Amino acid sequence: MVKLQTPAFVFMNGDLVPWDDARIHVGAPALIRGISVFEGIKGYWRHDESHLALVALRPHYDRLQRSAMLQQLPFSMSYQEFTDACFTIVKKLLSEDRDLWIRPTLFAVEGHWGLDTVTDLVITCYNQDKKTPDPISLGVSTWQRPIDTALPYRIKSAANYQMGRLARIEGRRQGFNDMVMLNQQGRVAEATGSCVLMVRDGTVVTPPPTEGCLESITVNIIESLCESLGIPFDRRPIDRTELRIADELALTGTLTEVAIVQRFEDLEMPEARVLSRLRDEYFACARGLRANPIMTLTPV
Ligand code: PMP
Repeated sequence: MVKLQTPAFVFMNGDLVPWDDARIHVGAPALIRGISVFEGIKGYWRHDESHLALVALRPHYDRLQRSAMLQQLPFSMSYQEFTDACFTIVKKLLSEDRDLWIRPTLFAVEGHWGLDTVTDLVITCYNQDKKTPDPISLGVSTWQRPIDTALPYRIKSAANYQMGRLARIEGRRQGFNDMVMLNQQGRVAEATGSCVLMVRDGTVVTPPPTEGCLESITVNIIESLCESLGIPFDRRPIDRTELRIADELALTGTLTEVAIVQRFEDLEMPEARVLSRLRDEYFACARGLRANPIMTLTPV
């Protein structure tokens, strides 16, 4: 059985709480209607006195605020308070020479159909091995991304992962590591937990968020890396058939980082020269070996 890591502590109700005591009531809107918004933040281990650096902390805080606002969830924490909360749990769980993944979730713990909503920011944090992502196989799901007026993809809500879960199950049965979800027009939206990068004729292409994907922080970083490396970058709609004739494909996101697609459906992909270069540059910046103005790193 696959078991989720169970770290010793969770940040909850403004303080550290032992994992086994971190409970939410069965009557909470977070549980009965799936009302919560969240972020995933990556911390990279570094061999200098800062030990760990959190990537794009401010953009993650800003997106959490936007998600909370759109989902009508009270979230009054300042950026400083949010940073302090993240540091509290990170410092507790930090482990020598390992990376971290931090998941701040704003749960609706009380309220009824949007009345008298009370929220709590819970932060869980998981150790991760330092490694570059393995190449992956990718299929296309029969499940589609909903539109902006029906489960808006711009909100990073737990509910938004319903289709992703079904797509993953479908993909697993077909032997794929991950699946592309198409939008209601049949064009590429995103994968189950990351965005799609495609290379055609030397240009890195990704769909704009209005095609049905999350406003990705990593894609913004990739765009900036392309700029610094002189690689053309374009945000435009991608047809399904373009994936089959693409020169290179990869998935990208905070947790996925840059995962090169080795097999797309039944096709073996050619060597991913451009995207491998971007992946290496991404890690060089994340580990502090190279500076990039958009990849802000907050040392812990
Ligand atoms: N789409 C989905 C559905 C995701 O879960 C993620 C990961 N947060 C992304 C895209 C990539 O977003 P980001 O680069 O901000 O992590």
